[in-house]
Parts: sequence; C-alpha cells; structure tokens
Amino acid sequence: MAYIISKLCRDCLDISCTQVCPVDCIYQYKGDDPTIPNNQLLIDPDECINCNACVPECPWEAIYEEDLLPEVFTEDLEINARIVGKPRIVPKRPDDQKLPSQEEVQSNKEKWGYKDF
Ligand code: SF4
Ligand code: SF4
Repeated sequence: MAYIISKLCRDCLDISCTQVCPVDCIYQYKGDDPTIPNNQLLIDPDECINCNACVPECPWEAIYEEDLLPEVFTEDLEINARIVGKPRIVPKRPDDQKLPSQEEVQSNKEKWGYKDF
C-alpha cells in the first residue's frame, strides 16, 4: 500500500508535498511518454513509507492513502505507479508560490467530478 496523488494536483503543482516527504519519493516525470503526466506529481509506491506527512501539507487536498482514495480517482493508483524507474526529479517549491483559496480548492474538485462538501 502507498499514498497516491490524485488528479486534483494536475496543473496545480504547489510542490509543498516534496518539502516534507522524509524519503523523497514524490516526483515530477521528466520523460516523453505521453501516458505519464508531467503536469502533476506522482508518488513512487515502492519507496513511499506511508508516513502521511504529505497529506496535510497539500493545499489542494490532492493526496490520499490508498484505502481512502475516492472512487472517481481510482485510475490514479495505477498512474502513480507508472513513475517507478522512469526519468524524474524531486522538484523544489518556488519561494513565491501562492496558496490557493478555499474557493479555488473546491472548484478544482468540482472540475474533476469530486464532491466532498
Ligand atoms: S502539494 Fe499537492 S498539489 Fe502540490 S504538488 Fe504536492 S500533491 Fe500536487
Ligand atoms: S506518505 Fe510519507 S513517504 Fe509517502 S509520499 Fe507522503 S510523505 Fe512521502
């Protein structure tokens, strides 16, 4: 079992999560395979130690423990696993990165068909 970054991360790339992961297992894909998204981060399931540190850190509420992954994001489990052994980096958070508002977070969830409110 590992933690999973859902599509709620797509195009957000806040990158707070990489700052707290104790094993640096949250990556941005740097290859040219179009089936692996590079506009979101992905967790390597073989390296994740299930510590939960990244979950409260993500301002877009995009990260889930596998057992708690909403059904609408089921395919993200397999998409995260595609990062194993691929060209990748651990990105750093830019100092001037702005945090999203609560309205932006909710509207992003609606965009991906997820309602938790
Ligand atoms: S903090 Fe959340 S939105 Fe930002 S890169 Fe990490 S998972 Fe994606
Ligand atoms: S659960 Fe822990 S080890 Fe896994 S990605 Fe999040 S911070 Fe890293």
